[in-house]
Amino acid sequence: MGGLRVLYVAGLGRSGSTILANSLGQVEGFFSAGELNFIWKHNVIENRLCGCGVPFRECPVWREVFERAFGGMDAVDARRMVALQASGARTRHVLPMLVPAGRRRVAARLREYLENTGRLYRAMAEVTGSRVIVDSSKEPAYGYAVGMIPGVDLRVVHLVRDPRAAAYSWLKKKEQPDSEARRYMFRMGPARSAVLWDAWNLSAEALWRGGRYLRLRYEDFVAEPGPSLRAVLDLAGEPGADLPLVGEREVRLGVSHTVSGNPNRFETGAVELRPDERWRGGMSLRDRAVATALALPLLPRYGYPAWG
Ligand SMILES: [Zn+2]
Repeated sequence: MGGLRVLYVAGLGRSGSTILANSLGQVEGFFSAGELNFIWKHNVIENRLCGCGVPFRECPVWREVFERAFGGMDAVDARRMVALQASGARTRHVLPMLVPAGRRRVAARLREYLENTGRLYRAMAEVTGSRVIVDSSKEPAYGYAVGMIPGVDLRVVHLVRDPRAAAYSWLKKKEQPDSEARRYMFRMGPARSAVLWDAWNLSAEALWRGGRYLRLRYEDFVAEPGPSLRAVLDLAGEPGADLPLVGEREVRLGVSHTVSGNPNRFETGAVELRPDERWRGGMSLRDRAVATALALPLLPRYGYPAWG
């Protein structure tokens, strides 16, 4: 009882998780931390930009979080944390996580990792005065590992977007403003993104369905942000919270301290939530056919038509 609530956004990347998480970050008592699965590699080691615009190691919020959790950013071995995370919190560990013996084995391997991660998340809540940490890492295996931390009360929003729209976004060349070493965001073709779409969505359902879990389609979220956000706040255990909306579909984003994610995490001010249908006109027929074919068995499950 009374554990630290972590609202985990699961699903494949390019599904609108950044705008959803940052909208939730505007709710009183919520802290939107970004993709925390990358904090050791991208932030502690590579010193990429915090959402507030300064290099991570100079951000006063994160400095205080690490001071409180570990006694400073260099008081914990970030490379060891990256290696431990890879040893038990990747997609290939989803199957073992589904059976008790496998779960115990993964938990034993991750013991030190989970202890440090628990300290980190608790320090985030204390320093920012939050009751709910929003973690938009999306990887099912990492989210499951976070749920293994003693004292963490994990709630999962499983965000799904039309796989053609996600594939279109993965194909596009996009600037990556948070690192000089990597100017562009990672790209992949429609076959790879559609296969990952299948795997990650099935994993999220296998790991969490039936528990404190809500499936939300990105298309429904942007069509009717109010009811969608209300359902997420209920899931997070904050049914009385004010919606982060001005009017029906506008959010006013303040400065965030997200550690990693889509470049729109740097956006502040008024943002209108609206459908993004550019893939319909911009995607080649071939790419569209490949993504459709590979995601076909799951399309009806999530309410997407094969054509149209
Ligand atoms: Zn910051």
